[in-house]
Amino acid sequence: MSERHQNLAVIGHVDHGKSTLVGRLLYETGSVPEHVIEQHREEAEEKGKGGFEFAYVMDNLAEERERGVTIDIAHQEFTTDEYDFTIVDCPGHRDFVKNMITGASQADNAVLVVAADDGVAPQTQEHVFLARTLGIDELIIGVNKMDVVDYKESTYDDVVDEVTQLLKQVQFNTDDASFIPISAFEGDNIADASDNTPWYSEETLLEALNDLPEPQPPTDAPLRLPIQDVYTISGIGTVPVGRIETGVMNIGDDVSFQPSDVGGEVKTIEMHHEEVPKAEPGDNVGFNVRGIGKDDIRRGDVCGPADEPPSVAETFQAQVVVMQHPSVITAGYTPVFHAHTSQVACTIESIDKKMDPSSGEVAEENPDFIQSGDAAVVTIRPQKPLSIEPSSEIPELGSFAIRDMGQTIAAGKVLDVNEK
Ligand code: GDP
Repeated sequence: MSERHQNLAVIGHVDHGKSTLVGRLLYETGSVPEHVIEQHREEAEEKGKGGFEFAYVMDNLAEERERGVTIDIAHQEFTTDEYDFTIVDCPGHRDFVKNMITGASQADNAVLVVAADDGVAPQTQEHVFLARTLGIDELIIGVNKMDVVDYKESTYDDVVDEVTQLLKQVQFNTDDASFIPISAFEGDNIADASDNTPWYSEETLLEALNDLPEPQPPTDAPLRLPIQDVYTISGIGTVPVGRIETGVMNIGDDVSFQPSDVGGEVKTIEMHHEEVPKAEPGDNVGFNVRGIGKDDIRRGDVCGPADEPPSVAETFQAQVVVMQHPSVITAGYTPVFHAHTSQVACTIESIDKKMDPSSGEVAEENPDFIQSGDAAVVTIRPQKPLSIEPSSEIPELGSFAIRDMGQTIAAGKVLDVNEK
């Protein structure tokens, strides 16, 4: 076990090999229980297919895939020489934006998977854009499925060029990105340097993971716990559940739920089916608050200390980057904003400034419209109460994605909140 911890997002276009890569990382780092591998090894040998243990991991993932749309390889853990890694997100085929908002903002760094035979695809763009907006520090780009393109260096170079161009487009510092030709399926350049890529002499994927910068220590922000669901459990009563983003929750604390604007004393906290006296950032908890009924609170509420309650925005100012919009965005536009566990229609009340993306300077005051590729400061009015925080104070609760027509239109960071 390592003392140091990293939350890692695995992002990339569907079918480019994210699940396979996570399976491979679990396998190579010995994170699949030995008895499970042993069992599969025996089965494989009986069938005359020795050396297929890795297939076991993948079979399991395939089974999971059949059961649901999203392969739940999020929350898997593996340990390298330097870090304990938790996969905080691996976007499935749907809902990946919600995952990115709740996932990438917690992720310290990310692995971007790009299939060598397909190159940059729509979700590659979308994920890179969100990773950049939501504050991923470093990207490791696994150019995957090198086996499919016969380990051709020129194909690899083409993909590297294409991704580099994309990174520049979204102003991601390309010094913070490293490229590795891999095959998640065959295991090339994952744990050991591959003989199939003699033209590549830099890091393997595990070496690159070990070399990631250490994450910033968590902020000393007050308790913020976005509510994911609210259950009624016999013998206990109303049990809101969610993940603590910042701060600590203790039994006996006086808490407040916003924007529902109710509160009370924490009676019990449960984690992994056990009662605990307190819970910390990253903990998924269910808890019970004296006097709170099932209809008093809902998904999208944020729980915080009664004396430092979560902010509720009448309006807020934010910096947004428009990723893709078929036409132009003008004041009055009212798409759905996704922030932590909340989804609320919000009106862009005014477009205050357009920024020059390369310099960060104001390019135009009060522009009439913004469009794809533009960065701007805008004032936003939620159509229903929304709890959100300035990104400078509580970054975990300070970012959002704007969705419309089934796509991510823009993403942003909250600059200022004007409370009710
Ligand atoms: P995801 O949607 O990004 O999670 O992609 P998957 O991991 O489910 O992979 C999609 C398909 O590509 C599956 O059939 C995998 O077996 C295959 N695949 C993934 N990685 C590789 C690779 O490195 N080489 C080859 N040949 N196939 C791969």
